[in-house]
Amino acid sequence: MIKVTQTFLPPIDEYSAFVQRAYNNNWLTNRGELVRELEEKLKGYLGTDNILITNNGTVPLQIAVKLLGKGGEIITTPFSYVATTASIVWENCTPVFVDIHPEYLTIDEQKIEAAITPKTTCILATHVFGNPCNIEAIEEIASKHNLAVIYDAAHCFGVKYKGQTIFNYGDVSTCSFHATKLFHTGEGGAVFANNKDLFDKIFYSHNFGHKGPLDFYGLGINAKISELQAAMGLAVFPYIDHIIAERKKVIDYYDHHLDYNRLQKLRIREQTEWNYSYYPVIFETEEELLKAEVNLNNNNIIPRRYFYPSLNHLPYVNHASMPVSENIAKHILCLPLYVGLKVKELEMIVNILNS
Ligand SMILES: *Cc1c(COP(=O)(O)O)cnc(C)c1O
Repeated sequence: MIKVTQTFLPPIDEYSAFVQRAYNNNWLTNRGELVRELEEKLKGYLGTDNILITNNGTVPLQIAVKLLGKGGEIITTPFSYVATTASIVWENCTPVFVDIHPEYLTIDEQKIEAAITPKTTCILATHVFGNPCNIEAIEEIASKHNLAVIYDAAHCFGVKYKGQTIFNYGDVSTCSFHATKLFHTGEGGAVFANNKDLFDKIFYSHNFGHKGPLDFYGLGINAKISELQAAMGLAVFPYIDHIIAERKKVIDYYDHHLDYNRLQKLRIREQTEWNYSYYPVIFETEEELLKAEVNLNNNNIIPRRYFYPSLNHLPYVNHASMPVSENIAKHILCLPLYVGLKVKELEMIVNILNS
């Protein structure tokens, strides 16, 4: 079976060697040696010092929403994974959706200002499929209206925008190291903040609010990553460039062989060094998409409808109309993309789609 993605597993002896160190230390969590070592390696790879690695990509998003959203209205994208909207609602803030750009698929910055009210505290936008939002425009709107900016950068490991890691932008960015993501620790994630004060607050918040063993900064939760997860990350780490290069080969194949007369491709924003994290194609009609999906499934190929439904249709939000996002959600399909996908398999996928 060919699924939309397949977790990259490093050689088990390389993974075991890291687990062995956790055994030798008799230390499994609370920022042990492996967690700190992985964090140092990621600092070097990404070129940023402001990283805290965490248990997943959602709790740090919730922490950021709690600290910056302050129970108010948060302007957000309807085209993302459900975690983006859920984090807002979970923290008792109100999501206010703003439609997306029809080609970049990120929040449409031209529609943000009309959605701002006196209750707006924050903008939470997703660099969907690793494609950057219009960061400059969002920054300008945010500073004009005194709003915080959080980026759900779950898909963005390795993405650079204007020559630096995309995680450097916004007040806070979060990433996911889930097993389906490009770099993974099984479950895991990271949070980035340039402001020292804010970073410290996030740091304390991720460990129950502890400032010391007997001293508390304030309210906190548990977003700590374990040594066992860090062991997987350390074993995957040496393969990152290989993973990205192999994914690029798959994407080059699709780019050269798919018939784009009747399909629309994701438009990557200018000045982006992309990470080849997803391969979405947009069909002209939902009927064509469903037909293609059935034909692929009949050949044991399982693409995924990322992201469906448009998040303004979730049962726990106000159902504002978001025509572009709803339209894209109905027409978009992510094709299989992972290390080890064979040319023969790609040929089959492309033939089915082109016919
Ligand atoms: C994967 C993902 C998350 C959640 O990350 P977890 O590590 O699974 O908690 C959040 N937002 C987006 C856009 C995602 O794709």
